[in-house]
Amino acid sequence: MKINKCFLDLKNSYLFATVGRKTAEYKKAHPEKDVIRLSIGDVTRPLAPVVVDAMKRAVEDMAHTETFKGYGPDQTCYGYGELISSIQKSYQRKGVTLETNEIFISDGAKSDCGNILDLFSNENIVLLPDPVYPAYADANTMDGRKIVYADANEQNGFLPMPDPSVHADIIYICSPNNPTGAAYTREQLKVWIDYAKSLDALIIFDAAYEYFVTDPSLARSIYEVEGAKDCAIEICSYSKTAGFTGVRCGYTIVPMDLKREGASLNQLWARRQSTKFNGVSYVTQMGAAAVFSEEGETQISRNIEYYRKNAELIGNMLDRLGIWYTGGKNSPYIWLKCPNGMDSWAFFDYLLEEANVVGTPGSGFGKNGEGFFRLTAFGTEESTREACERISRLLQK
Ligand code: PLP
Repeated sequence: MKINKCFLDLKNSYLFATVGRKTAEYKKAHPEKDVIRLSIGDVTRPLAPVVVDAMKRAVEDMAHTETFKGYGPDQTCYGYGELISSIQKSYQRKGVTLETNEIFISDGAKSDCGNILDLFSNENIVLLPDPVYPAYADANTMDGRKIVYADANEQNGFLPMPDPSVHADIIYICSPNNPTGAAYTREQLKVWIDYAKSLDALIIFDAAYEYFVTDPSLARSIYEVEGAKDCAIEICSYSKTAGFTGVRCGYTIVPMDLKREGASLNQLWARRQSTKFNGVSYVTQMGAAAVFSEEGETQISRNIEYYRKNAELIGNMLDRLGIWYTGGKNSPYIWLKCPNGMDSWAFFDYLLEEANVVGTPGSGFGKNGEGFFRLTAFGTEESTREACERISRLLQK
């Protein structure tokens, strides 16, 4: 028996473990201090009432022979019609027309960002932005694919554009980006689409944070941009949109027009899913179907607005201090340049010790993250306000 040796090439990610350990050590040494975590990457607001009601009704269905549900419908890879059509309608509101068989229900974006790779040879070269959500690099490393990076930095506003001299076969784009909060306009995405087409490459577009986008010039779906349907797969999630991080549901769009080497990627994905996946629970799917109802959209936007206000508090504080940052306006993440040339971990220690505020060192998300720092809007309004006051007092000194 031989193991997949590619696993040995994975870099250990000490980022969140080290943040947790350093925070715990500080709290133990200073039990009287009120430490505020602006490092939370998870949602904190509860599910929308309309979602909870739909899930309760679905549980009740499961309690009676007449309405009990087993495996989901085969023909849609176990996605229920109500959910698929609610997603189709949500795309229509963005001006995007999808066929129902282009929508695949999943247990979240993280799984599909990795699972989709089953469709592709490990000889493909993968292009990732740096910094970005670390799961893309890890999933490709497990398969032994070569990874090249598009450098995101202060000069390009953490929105790298394609370099025509670089060859890539699979291109991940995360917009709005985790950790930088930077988001592409439709025009910028068109440049990426043209680049992908010039190479016959595929874009994997991670839209996990699309519901935070308010600026009308920014794309919420890559399919808002002409020409995307034959070169892009889009991966979406209810996690940040509707607080489903603990419920688990997402959806992936694989258009019918997407073909490579004569094969339909839609058919390959359907085959992959029906072999290795048995669907998302009925109760979860019914909850998710309520998210894009009229009432659902109103209720989830209240939670998103809550986080958006927190992001605004943080952004305003940084504006007052004259600190450079991206994100915060169309994203729950604020990505700031560490003051006084501090490196990411030095600033982490300084904020923890002097302001009792915890953030995430940017260097943990890629080499270009060094000297930057991520704060998130997922805390409570009170703690965010208090953290902003403390940071202001500290950095004004
Ligand atoms: N994609 C990005 C960019 C993320 O930041 C996250 C979670 O933080 C995910 C995907 C994971 O989403 P899900 O909870 O749907 O698996």
